[in-house]
Amino acid sequence: MQCPVCQSDSKVLDTRWIEEENSIRRKRECIQCSKRFVTYEKIEDKPLVVIKKSGRRELFDGSKLLKGLAKACEKRPISIEELNQMILDVEKELKNQYTEVPASEIGECIMHKLMQMDEVAYVRFASVYKDFSDVQTFIREIEVMKERK
Ligand SMILES: [Zn+2]
Repeated sequence: MQCPVCQSDSKVLDTRWIEEENSIRRKRECIQCSKRFVTYEKIEDKPLVVIKKSGRRELFDGSKLLKGLAKACEKRPISIEELNQMILDVEKELKNQYTEVPASEIGECIMHKLMQMDEVAYVRFASVYKDFSDVQTFIREIEVMKERK
């Protein structure tokens, strides 16, 4: 890090982690003019990478999930705020476990939460997500859900 006065190099005198700002504060001193200054390094939230079925990777996109969920929850007593919170929770949980998460894991996680919130929304979401190809699979899914209750 260059000195703001003479542009020479500086040395670090003290490093402190400031949790509430998620940043690192460093006290520095210029090796030339001895000017002291402080720098902050903001630590970016580490991104969650999603591995798609095709093997392609993309960044976790909560707004995309929200769209799918909002559709599944149409005319159900679940607010957008609740869905938003649920997506935030899912993202947080997954970040604790993964750096790269398979897309299927996200789906499972959401379905699990949705099941506890609203059965109709759950079945709607699952039917799109699991791509039920026939009525039998669909009925089985509902039976599994009833058993878990
Ligand atoms: Zn200097």
